[in-house]
This record gives sequence, C-alpha cells and structure tokens, in this order.
Amino acid sequence: MGSSSESAQLVAALHGMSSAQLSPGASGNASVKTSDGGMLISATGQVAANASPAELVYISPDGQIAGGQLKPSSEWHMHWQIYQDHQNAGGIVHCHSRFATVLACQRREIPAFHYMVAIAGGNSIPCAPYAIYGSKELSELVSLALSDRKACLLANHGQIAYSSDPIRALALAKEVEELAANYYFSLQNGGPSLLSEQEMCDVLAQYANYGRQT
Ligand SMILES: [Zn+2]
Repeated sequence: MGSSSESAQLVAALHGMSSAQLSPGASGNASVKTSDGGMLISATGQVAANASPAELVYISPDGQIAGGQLKPSSEWHMHWQIYQDHQNAGGIVHCHSRFATVLACQRREIPAFHYMVAIAGGNSIPCAPYAIYGSKELSELVSLALSDRKACLLANHGQIAYSSDPIRALALAKEVEELAANYYFSLQNGGPSLLSEQEMCDVLAQYANYGRQT
C-alpha cells in the first residue's frame, strides 16, 4: 500500500510543485514507486497545494486499483509505463509549467544552449510527440523519449521528470522549467549560441560526479 515515508515524500513533492508555481489550477501530478513494486499517485482533479496522504491512490504491482479509493490522476498510465520501463525511476513529477509548456506547444526540444541541459542526462531535453492525455499511446511515446533522459517535454502539453524519489524529481522539473524559460528568452533576440557535441560530452563526463562530496 505504500509506507508512511513514501506518502510523506509524495505529499511534500506535490506541495513543493504548487509552491514553485509549476502546477496552475488542478494540473500536474506526481507519484512514488512503492517498495512492493506498486505506486502511489495523486488523485484526479486534486489541487497539489491541498494534497494529503489520505487522498493518494495506490496502484498495485499488477496495475490494479483497489476499490474504496479516489480515482487516480487521468495521467496515471504515463507514470506506470515509466516505472515499468525505467528501473531507476523512484519518483515522477508531471506538470504544465509555463515555459516548458510554451516550448512544448511549439514542439521544440531544448537544445544544448546551456551546459545544465545535461541535468536531464544528455545534450538536449527532447519533446515527445503529441498524443491525447491519459492514452496508452502517450504513455509509450513519453517513455520512449525518456530512453536515455530523465526529463522531457510533451508536445502541446507540458513536461515530465523522474528521479530516484519524488523530491529529486521535483528538483529536476524545476530545473527543466528554468532552462525552458532561459531558452525561451534567449530565442527572443537572435537565439543562443549552442554548445558543440564535444563541449557537451565534456560536461556530461564531468557531470557524472556533480554534487558528490567525495
Ligand atoms: Zn498533463
């Protein structure tokens, strides 16, 4: 069913997503992989700022939703697919944050205009092709776009980020939004100079040790 610490982490990520203004209205959702191989996810229509442990929905390891719970986010399949395909995913944040969504509506990826693009795992943050929200097709397109990345944009929709837990996934989603904003503004007056493939290779090699104390 998910432990109290898993619930607490997920609620903290939902509150953090709201306070960072990444989830206007009732948009945006987040999940945590539970130790039994299932997941907890926010309920459909839930305003992230008001999330509480009692309102989270548990989905069992075989993808079943036990009765007596709220309905899960309509986008739960997308989270489920990512946990199936990416064994290092422990938490996911999906949101319609402003600048990521602006670029997604233009079906643009975020190229290597800033070295921090490497935070998503490569030399760009891709944009998954469009499919209607909540569909199996969208789940598969998004999971595929994340083949060698931890974050991507979703065409005409928003962004999604995963990490080892929901708090780290939220931190990544915040970085993606900041990069999207910087890229958007740098496009306004002629466009940025992009880093070369070699320059990004060097960043990615160095990035493997980023944030480690030893
Ligand atoms: Zn969405």
